[in-house]
Amino acid sequence: MVKWEDICDRCGLCCHRKAISGDYLLLDIENPCEHYDKQTHLCKVYNNRFEVEKTCKKVTPFLVAFSAALPSSCAYVRLFKKYHLRFNKKETVLAPGLFNEE
Ligand code: SF4
Ligand code: SF4
Repeated sequence: MVKWEDICDRCGLCCHRKAISGDYLLLDIENPCEHYDKQTHLCKVYNNRFEVEKTCKKVTPFLVAFSAALPSSCAYVRLFKKYHLRFNKKETVLAPGLFNEE
């Protein structure tokens, strides 16, 4: 049986800054979380990520079903869509540099 965490394909997209605008999730692929390792695509503080990074959210079935924060290419989202369990309809748009001016 496949373990829940093994469904993740480590694309790292959910570890980037994002904004919701209308029907869209805008994902800034130039601005990852400070704990994201660009070389390995892994989290540098994975075991205590929720203590270290307050904005980090656990990927739960509820989040996958309803949250706008996960991109449509996320492996969990694709799996849930296959079984008609994904209820968030926002489209994902890659927006490199969206937060560069801050
Ligand atoms: S702390 Fe959370 S958002 Fe940041 S890199 Fe780790 S898993 Fe991703
Ligand atoms: S977007 Fe989905 S598949 Fe990609 S790293 Fe995040 S949880 Fe894993």
